[in-house]
Amino acid sequence: MKLITGMLFLISSVYANLHQAPPNLNLGRAKAVFVDFKTVKSKIVYDLNSRRAKAVSEIEFSQADSGYPIYDLVPSETKVSLNGKDVSVETTSMDGVSTVKYVKQALSAGTHKLVIENDFNKNISWSTGYMKSAFWMSDLSDRRYLEQYLPTNLEFDQYQKFLEIEIKGSDSEHVLYTNGDVEELAKNSWKVEYPAVYTASSFFMHITKKGLIPEEKTTYRSIDNREIPVTVYTTQSTSRFMKATLSILAELERDYGPWPHNQVIVYGAGMGGMEHCGATITSFSALGHELIHSYFARGVMPAHGNAGWVDEAVASWRDANYMKYSQRSLYRTRMASHSIYKRTTDRDAYSRGMKFIGHLDKKFEGKEGFKKFLRSFFEERKFKPFKTEEFIVAIEKYFNEDVSALFDKYVYGKNGVDKLEKHEKVENPFHPKLSEQQLFDLL
Ligand SMILES: [Zn+2]
Repeated sequence: MKLITGMLFLISSVYANLHQAPPNLNLGRAKAVFVDFKTVKSKIVYDLNSRRAKAVSEIEFSQADSGYPIYDLVPSETKVSLNGKDVSVETTSMDGVSTVKYVKQALSAGTHKLVIENDFNKNISWSTGYMKSAFWMSDLSDRRYLEQYLPTNLEFDQYQKFLEIEIKGSDSEHVLYTNGDVEELAKNSWKVEYPAVYTASSFFMHITKKGLIPEEKTTYRSIDNREIPVTVYTTQSTSRFMKATLSILAELERDYGPWPHNQVIVYGAGMGGMEHCGATITSFSALGHELIHSYFARGVMPAHGNAGWVDEAVASWRDANYMKYSQRSLYRTRMASHSIYKRTTDRDAYSRGMKFIGHLDKKFEGKEGFKKFLRSFFEERKFKPFKTEEFIVAIEKYFNEDVSALFDKYVYGKNGVDKLEKHEKVENPFHPKLSEQQLFDLL
């Protein structure tokens, strides 16, 4: 385990992702600049007596340009220091489509250290004697990744995260489900090391009281011979979830190659779902949709909102049994031409994007079809955040054919966009947008 994490760390230092960051922000005379997070060490203390969750995060980052360093965190900071000195932070809009924070201290290019303290209360429930907490996320609303709980960079950046968790004031034993290497330090106290390829949307974390949700564990032998630990937990049938998980893993490995993560965690929440790296919160019917996202979304990763349509289109195409579509069944969309600062996925991806992928499959059926390309794209782009433009280049290189006119019309909306028709579903039935209350109820 440690060896694998170490290797990922070496690879990641080559992948400094600043070239995928959006343009820096002009703030009158000053400039806020996107930075490259190197490591983040966070400690969260949940205190049942005060019913507070407090986090302290130490962020090592480097910036290529001088200016105010950008990060994001939705809750308010209680204390921020930069290179050892207290500083203040500001919130700013990005092109009217999203919001980020920056430290109001001009820095020169180089490596710096930011320490941020914050409380958070989202998706935490306090009960007598125990608590529950989760990093539930969504790609359909803005600022709904890790920034809801802990300071992070935007999705373009990969960094190594270390997390310590301690629950104080409880005699009950809690259980932690998370997609990193977990070391239990004592009862209700853990240390976690995550792969350095993770981005803001990668992390899965759920704490609950031990025994509250039945679980089943096994190992899955990957086609590359790794023994991959599989954990399923649900108040529904664990064996039904486990059986389906193992069969979907075998299918996905046949189609796209070895499972790209160190584990599989499935929380059968009865609703959902949401995908993370080798982990998901999901309904039974969405299980396959969420698990293929470990290849497309959390294996091949979108660098920003304009690339998010690809993974939803691919996952929905699998839901539709990889159907082929003629050009007549396509609709013109602008799934990839929103503001470069947009962080969410266009919901046209589920049906119109799916049909577009199905059309590429029909177009290239004489050249072994689009699934073969997806497998090769996954192998080449795994853990390297991409943009739609790079997806197009890869398709053209693979099939040796120009697809720019198709993308211009159906993905970039260069000739306009078709209005939604009555029979069209904007939402994948497996992947509904849940309200904040619904998400809280899944704790
Ligand atoms: Zn999805």
